[in-house]
Amino acid sequence: MEPKEIDQEGRKRMGRGARIFLLLSVLLLISDALFVTINYHFSHRALIAEQADQGRNARAAYQMVMREQLDSMLLLAYTFAHQEDIQLMMLEAKQAVEREGGGPGGEQAAQVRQRLYGEVGELWRFLIERFDVRQLHFHLGPGSLSFLRVHRPDRYGDRMDDLRLTIAHTNEQRTPRTGFETGRVYSGIRGVVPLFAYPDGEKVHIGALEVGTSFTPLLQLLDRNLDMGWAALLKREHVEDAMWPEFVAKRFAATPRGCECVLEAHSREEINDFIATGVFRERREELQSDIVAIGGRHYAIAHWPLRDYLGAVQPERDSVGRIVVWRDISERFAAFRHDQWLTAAYALSAWLLIEALLFLAIRLGTRKLEDEVAQRTLRIRDLNEQLREQANTDALTGILNRRAFMERLEAERSRASRSGSPISLIIIDYDLFKHVNDRYGHPAGDAVLKQVTRVIAERLRISDLFARIGGEEFAIVLPDTNQEDALRLAKTLRQSVAQTPVQLPDHPPFQVTISLGVAAWHPQEEMRQWFAAADDALYRAKSEGRNACEGR
Ligand code: GH3
Ligand code: MG
Ligand code: MG
Repeated sequence: MEPKEIDQEGRKRMGRGARIFLLLSVLLLISDALFVTINYHFSHRALIAEQADQGRNARAAYQMVMREQLDSMLLLAYTFAHQEDIQLMMLEAKQAVEREGGGPGGEQAAQVRQRLYGEVGELWRFLIERFDVRQLHFHLGPGSLSFLRVHRPDRYGDRMDDLRLTIAHTNEQRTPRTGFETGRVYSGIRGVVPLFAYPDGEKVHIGALEVGTSFTPLLQLLDRNLDMGWAALLKREHVEDAMWPEFVAKRFAATPRGCECVLEAHSREEINDFIATGVFRERREELQSDIVAIGGRHYAIAHWPLRDYLGAVQPERDSVGRIVVWRDISERFAAFRHDQWLTAAYALSAWLLIEALLFLAIRLGTRKLEDEVAQRTLRIRDLNEQLREQANTDALTGILNRRAFMERLEAERSRASRSGSPISLIIIDYDLFKHVNDRYGHPAGDAVLKQVTRVIAERLRISDLFARIGGEEFAIVLPDTNQEDALRLAKTLRQSVAQTPVQLPDHPPFQVTISLGVAAWHPQEEMRQWFAAADDALYRAKSEGRNACEGR
């Protein structure tokens, strides 16, 4: 493999490293993001579940307090119903109304009403103050005929047989009833007891007595004790069906748009903002938890259906509104947000750390690879160098071979031609070398060639080219050397060889000789002619009896 190819291979592998790094980074980032998202999802669900739990607890507290309130109303109703003078006055009232044509009755009924009003007035005012009572209502049976609304004494004589079912049912069954119910004037939490009189020891049923309170004190009580906002919403349709229109208009003018509802009662003003967000617009029957953001604050809202007396008796009926409870959870929510940011920050830091480690690991791997590639490149360069040298070198003697010699000779001749300096060629042939081989064997002949080569090389300049150009034929090119100097050197070489006995193991020393032909280059002369001139000179040296040198 060439060094270039190795470089390319190395780069390819490094590119692969970068791609793996990128892929791992993206995968890690995706899993990180997934972790953060899932964490957010579950934390948010936990937060909602926590709020729903608080909502359920609030509903339980509400139901308990509502039960208490209804029982209180019932108890207060009994305190009136058991007073004998009230019983007798109501018996009188019933008889007067019957006599005077039903409905509001006439003058006598009016007198009784006036007396009754005076009779209960003091207790009524006490109840308002002490028990937050809003309503005290005397009804005549059967059904519901209003005789006296102590809380609204100018309105009487109207029938509410289909509207005020707590009354109608009490009159029918002669047993007490409690419940939330919307009447002509307002919606109330009511306790209703049957009213009897005992003239001459005989039990006569007259009608019903009702004490009621509104949601407001109940919700305020819950607010004070649980530190939560409370509200009661009624369906607009429901109040419009039940109440006299003038009372609807008066009471609910302030309810904001945002639901098909009216604000019956509330303990804090924030409910108006919640309604405006439309969070109650959707009809939802079960306990519902929401987190609502208003003006930079967060509120956990829970709300559930409100069933009135009729809804409690007939479970298939729709609810008439919703009870709403809320808490400001801004701090809890901020902590939740903070946790989420912290998780995200941790995830990001972990990612960056892993990235850095991954980067370092890949970097180290790449550096090792780079080193390996560099080493291999060097090794290959050395090998190539060796190959190139081998290609130019004669294996036996270690000097230039014929091919390399011819190349360089051409270069030297061109340079001489350009500079005008002389250049000479010596061709050397061993004398009677066949005999050497015959006598000592071919390997010994090789050893001779090596030794003699060393003898000749010692006498040459670095710039001279010395090559083996055939079996036992050698050539020398001498740059910057004319015919005369070349001939002188040739003679020296001949002499040196002749005077240096060959030493071979297992043989006594012996003599070899060489013959040399010398030719300086004649400008314009072809390579072939130049060589032929040197060859001719060599031939002449041979013919002269060998161990000789001749010039052109
Ligand atoms: P001459 O003086 O006329 O040159 O006689 P010679 O015997 O040297 O004759 P020639 O040059 O024609 O023959 C060369 C001989 O050298 C032939 C061969 O046996 C021997 N020879 C050629 N190359 C090698 C070699 O690489 N090693 C050995 N040992 N002998 C070689
Ligand atoms: Mg020869
Ligand atoms: Mg020879």
